[in-house]
Amino acid sequence: MIQRISADVTIIGGGLVGSSAALAMRKAGLAVVLIDKGFCGAQASGVNYGGVRRQGRPPEQLPLSQRAHGIWPRLKALVGIDGEYVPSGHLKLARTEADFAKLEAYAEIAKPYGLDLELVGAAALKTRFPWLSAAGAGASLCPGDGHANPRLVSPAFARAAERAGVKVFEQTPVRDVRATGSGFAVLAGENVEIRSRQIVNSAGAWSDTFAAQFGESVPLTRIYPSMVVTEPLPVRLPVSMGEQGGSFYGRQVARGNYVMGGGRGAALADPDFSRPSVTAASSVMQRAIALFPHLANAQVIRFWSGTEAEMPDGNPVIGASQTTPGLFHAFGFCGAGFQIAPAVGEVLLELVATGQSTTPIDAFSIGRFSQVAAQTAVSL
Ligand SMILES: Cc1cc2nc3c(=O)[nH]c(=O)nc-3n(C[C@H](O)[C@H](O)[C@H](O)COP(=O)(O)OP(=O)(O)OC[C@H]3O[C@@H](n4cnc5c(N)ncnc54)[C@H](O)[C@@H]3O)c2cc1C
Repeated sequence: MIQRISADVTIIGGGLVGSSAALAMRKAGLAVVLIDKGFCGAQASGVNYGGVRRQGRPPEQLPLSQRAHGIWPRLKALVGIDGEYVPSGHLKLARTEADFAKLEAYAEIAKPYGLDLELVGAAALKTRFPWLSAAGAGASLCPGDGHANPRLVSPAFARAAERAGVKVFEQTPVRDVRATGSGFAVLAGENVEIRSRQIVNSAGAWSDTFAAQFGESVPLTRIYPSMVVTEPLPVRLPVSMGEQGGSFYGRQVARGNYVMGGGRGAALADPDFSRPSVTAASSVMQRAIALFPHLANAQVIRFWSGTEAEMPDGNPVIGASQTTPGLFHAFGFCGAGFQIAPAVGEVLLELVATGQSTTPIDAFSIGRFSQVAAQTAVSL
């Protein structure tokens, strides 16, 4: 039997973006349906590194990132758990003088946004961070950045949304979406039919198919970042680490495990799933040992990769559709959506309620790609 539901907003994709939007909208009194083809928070939002990092983002993302920075300490009140959120600080290491100059330049750019970056010269590195091996021309510390446990945080937003009254469908793939004139009709799973005035496309690495259905082709590619976790070891690493110009990143959790990332895996035959490459995992370990010699004999106990959407300019797509009133997009977070997702959820509420965002999002308009396509066509 067909299950027919009416709502104000249908959200396609229960990652952290869709779930935080669902929670924000429901708290504002809207009737919301949240649909995921698998389990909410089981894709990129639940398998990422857990970096809650503002440092290093393009300046146009910093207002949104700062807004999210204000939300993370309130997780317990918002979703009922603290998600193991630790504002540990994020230390970005420069291996060369040229890389350190880039950190200095970024600190200038980021100054107006209030990240309070602290530049640490080569000599101070050794005394401030004695657990690091000798290498390094300097570093930049963002004291308020940190990390959290994505496996806890992302499903918790969906569960909190459900408790607040959002109708959540899991293991219910959206099969068809169409504009009806007065709103949208969504067919999902075997027998769910939803009618709503507005719709949010937050289907992560699968969002391009929904955008294309409404005449908005986007140059989204799927990437598969690889992660590695060691056995628990004595706790020494107080900050989350990254590298300027390198792909290694690492943190240590309270239980002692090192969680580290870098390199890419590859899609399996079913591109919804991926596998980390052995080369990526072993190069992460080599880089880790170069930085933290005490990891020389550490056992790796798990490695995995996740599916993420990447856009060519490194920025997400957030905002109203340019073809279809009532459709809003939020996808393409390029390996960095975990930290800003709670703020994206609030912005999506503002967009469906008022059509405007109080945080600047013009740089993330989907229109930037159609403009590029049009310009390319003219210049041919
Ligand atoms: C290994 C890895 C490490 C990362 N590290 C970090 C980090 O340290 N810090 C950071 O800020 N970001 C990080 N990221 C990026 C971050 O995880 C993502 O940007 C963010 O989670 C994207 O959230 P999302 O809700 O857009 O997408 P997702 O979490 O992918 O959610 C999209 C959802 O849409 C659903 N969906 C798709 N198609 C359909 C359909 N037809 N019907 C119904 N549902 C559908 C999917 O099942 C999925 O649950 C990392 C990503 C990966 C993979």
